[in-house]
Amino acid sequence: MISIYQSEAFQQEVLTKKTQNEQDEEVFQVAKNVIADIRTNGDQALKKYVKKFDQHVPTEWKVTDQERKDAWNQVEARTILALKNAAKNIKAFHEKQLQSSRFMQVDEDIVSGQLYRAIEKVGIYVPGGTACYPSSVLMNAIPAVLAGVEEVIMVTPARNGENIAPILSVAADIAGVTTIYKIGGIQAIAALAYGTETVPTVDKIVGPGNAYVAAAKALVFGDVGIDMVAGPSEVAIIADDSADPIHVAADLIAQAEHDTNARSFLFTPSAELIEATKKELEQQTAVLPREDIARVSLEEKGGLVLVSDLDEAFVLSNQLAPEHLEIQLNNPLDYLGKIKHAGSVFLGHYTPESLGDYYAGPNHVLPTSGTARFSSGLSVDDFIKKTTFLYYSEKALTDAAEDIVTIANEEYLVGHARAVEKRLKKN
Ligand code: NAD
Repeated sequence: MISIYQSEAFQQEVLTKKTQNEQDEEVFQVAKNVIADIRTNGDQALKKYVKKFDQHVPTEWKVTDQERKDAWNQVEARTILALKNAAKNIKAFHEKQLQSSRFMQVDEDIVSGQLYRAIEKVGIYVPGGTACYPSSVLMNAIPAVLAGVEEVIMVTPARNGENIAPILSVAADIAGVTTIYKIGGIQAIAALAYGTETVPTVDKIVGPGNAYVAAAKALVFGDVGIDMVAGPSEVAIIADDSADPIHVAADLIAQAEHDTNARSFLFTPSAELIEATKKELEQQTAVLPREDIARVSLEEKGGLVLVSDLDEAFVLSNQLAPEHLEIQLNNPLDYLGKIKHAGSVFLGHYTPESLGDYYAGPNHVLPTSGTARFSSGLSVDDFIKKTTFLYYSEKALTDAAEDIVTIANEEYLVGHARAVEKRLKKN
């Protein structure tokens, strides 16, 4: 069963451990070879790897307009409504992230500012190996469309080698995806990064995927932009006696069922809550369809941590910098000031992570493996570039000239100094 830690043991045994997949080296080598081949040989190599890794090559790579239309008849009306409602919330939340180009300093002689421009072409990876994630379509595509991206190109592996899940196509329509290709894995990332005869190249690739997809994204970074290299998903819950152990256990399991490497932690000063949560975990895991996955995840990666007080709980949580942080305390907003590092925070007894995963508005593509120390979840900003601009009048340049020339000369870049001096009026 799940381990119980004192805070010191948690720091030594968990926080110091690397969270990356041990097979990384091997996975990276496979990804490197596939990318190089597709970069050189285009569609021919793409076909070869789709056959190798997904067993069957679809007759057409691109999802046709007719297929996209037909998909709407293959999804339950109630499901379509739920997706539309979720999309509405996600759109409303991300709309507030939009910014306009701005003049930062304006006077008669000096104007400076920043232009906000959308990235033109974006690729969205939607996992389709072992499961189906319409929520990933919404979370990745909606901010891109809002930012003004002209072409949003989605890739996802075909389920039976021929078709993508209709629900992914419907979600793509709701979110505003331009084109869908039935390709997954490393080969999809390579095709988007370098283009083939069939697949157009994009400027940035976003979206989650398995270890192969993550390795491929890391390898193409630099030639195209990427959102992040996502590791296994994680949740930390800070709770006291006001929390219901049934809820705490349910939320730990919701994380653990993702995959065997997912990490779920509880930080609490209450020994009673730890005991009750442990019992609940046993009972709830036993009746979970994905019991096998959740059990391994909880036993091998999870933990219930007894802390001396809530302040210590926040210290440990900040050291972990979890992807998701739940605050199951009364008056949860009072604790926002204590949070330094976390991808997304869920406040109170009625705000489970699932609400954010699917529906409420904030993005579910979040920094994992402690990277919340220096990065943020996906937002409209990920699809925007900021170009600065500057205007100086003759008078303004004359006033600044001596400073610029002095610095240029210190750097032994005389040409830089002369570019200013040549413009000054000769007295
Ligand atoms: P996937 O689409 O990421 O990967 C499937 C592809 O992997 C296949 O098409 C195949 O081409 C390739 N592949 C499989 N085995 C391979 C091998 N041995 N060599 C080379 N290529 C191989 O789908 P998945 O596997 O189901 O993984 C989905 C992942 O996405 C999970 O880890 C899940 O937790 C994660 N996810 C994360 C979020 C998030 O927001 N953080 C959301 C949804 C899913």
